Amino acid sequence: MARFIFITGGVVSSLGKGLTAAALGALLQARGYSVRLRKLDPYLNVDPGTMSPFEHGEVYVTDDGAETDLDLGHYERFTGVAARRTDSISAGRIYQNVLEKERRGEYLGKTIQVIPHVTDEIKDFIRIGADETDFMLCEIGGTVGDIEGLPFFEAIRQFIQEQPRGGCVLMHLTLLPFIAASGELKTKPTQHSVKELRSIGLMPDVLVCRTEHPIPDRERDKIALFCNVRPEAVVPALDLKSIYQAPIAFHAAGLDRAILDAFRISPAPRPDLARWERVVDAIEHPDGEVRIAIVGKYTRLEDAYKSIAEALTHGGIANRVRVRAEWIDAEIFEREDPAPWLENLHAILVPGGFGERGTEGMIRAAGFARERRVPFFGICLGMQMAVIEALRSLGGIANAGSEEFDVEAGQKRFEHVIYHMKEWVAGNQTVQRRLTDAKGGTMRLGAYPAVLAPGSRVARIYGTTTISERHRHRYEVDIRHRQTLEECGLVFSGLSPDGRLPEIVEIPDHPWFIGVQFHPELKSRPLQPHPLFADFVRAAVEQSRLV
Ligand code: GLN
Repeated sequence: MARFIFITGGVVSSLGKGLTAAALGALLQARGYSVRLRKLDPYLNVDPGTMSPFEHGEVYVTDDGAETDLDLGHYERFTGVAARRTDSISAGRIYQNVLEKERRGEYLGKTIQVIPHVTDEIKDFIRIGADETDFMLCEIGGTVGDIEGLPFFEAIRQFIQEQPRGGCVLMHLTLLPFIAASGELKTKPTQHSVKELRSIGLMPDVLVCRTEHPIPDRERDKIALFCNVRPEAVVPALDLKSIYQAPIAFHAAGLDRAILDAFRISPAPRPDLARWERVVDAIEHPDGEVRIAIVGKYTRLEDAYKSIAEALTHGGIANRVRVRAEWIDAEIFEREDPAPWLENLHAILVPGGFGERGTEGMIRAAGFARERRVPFFGICLGMQMAVIEALRSLGGIANAGSEEFDVEAGQKRFEHVIYHMKEWVAGNQTVQRRLTDAKGGTMRLGAYPAVLAPGSRVARIYGTTTISERHRHRYEVDIRHRQTLEECGLVFSGLSPDGRLPEIVEIPDHPWFIGVQFHPELKSRPLQPHPLFADFVRAAVEQSRLV
């Protein structure tokens, strides 16, 4: 049975619980343990799939097709362990499960209550697959004291009580605000936050305190005394220049030691952090910089494209350069010429998105990249817009467009070179969908294989002709335009195994022009940069020598 680590937060949100959990996972791995990370979100949406990226940031998709919280992206990036559907749950899903059981009569006529029915459902979820791993890390979203969070905190209280003694550790994240006028770090909010936890029967073993300044011994001792933890278990978390410094910084601050001590694991295997040291070295000492435009729709909120930003950083690590992402709202190019914005940048990326807003601007950005021979990477919607651009400019289809935009507008304006997928093959089954289906979870989601054309640029980059990548889309490039596109210089260099769905389009006669229907950014990791991002950044480095 695994040992369980629960991660909670208090005082304020956005303290970096997900990142801390992920870095702790990496540190336990560095000591030779296996880990799995899990996120329990108290909100009532069944999953984040239908939430606006402005609300919730990026939707992270797992291999098995779950639409999950972006923290699962951090978990994967730091530990390399592929997340599963069973690693993310919301209160909405918990209640849905409970209510479905109630409708099926599974509770045998009992009155359904938060305790024990909802809390049992949460505990069952925490236990899934726990036998397979040394440590199960469960992060609770939100902050202690939130009304929605209560059933989750109560469930972990029961869970800890039911496990063998020493089988669970609770790590709580708080903030130590710095009052400039008196030059002091304030411990009171942390004390209150722990008091709140204790009032619901939870006792933290380790406190991670976000702080802008090192914690003086006096304050550390005070926190330990008032919060009932050992002084060594008060771990400072100072701001970092790069999130990838977190494993090393947390190790230096004693986090993994404090966790293992709380489990009474002693002596513990020594950590091997050499791989992380190399990553940090490449980030801290780059040989130059490239500037890459990201022309998208949700650029106001960087979290909306979290995995893309991270994958570009990984591409930078692979080439030992710093990648500066220039976020540009695609709508600007609907009013203004893209040239002055893009001319001095070294590559252009058009990411995924939903809806028509901004798409004409993305089409212009793709056109600029194609004509001016600037490295171009189109991801999902970005690929679709690159195909529309080519068919309009070179293929003689002046009103080429996506069915998605006409459905949204409720009128037919475009020729649908991107059409709504009504069926596709998943494993040995055919999946069918209608436009009128419910929105949540009905896209082509998760890992699907693709076959690459031998000799193509992508086959060279991947070093293989069969790949598996994660998808999240409802619309698809119409393969019937293959010949027209080839005459325009664009080839489908990756297809679904049945040959029906274009997965990759590239322009062989261009320094670097690739569009992909899937989301390679979801599988990129600092220790293993995704080959497409590594090569895209390499192409940007070459371009930087020209401009
Ligand atoms: N909106 C497009 C589709 O559903 C693209 C989706 C995406 O970029 N993830 O096909």
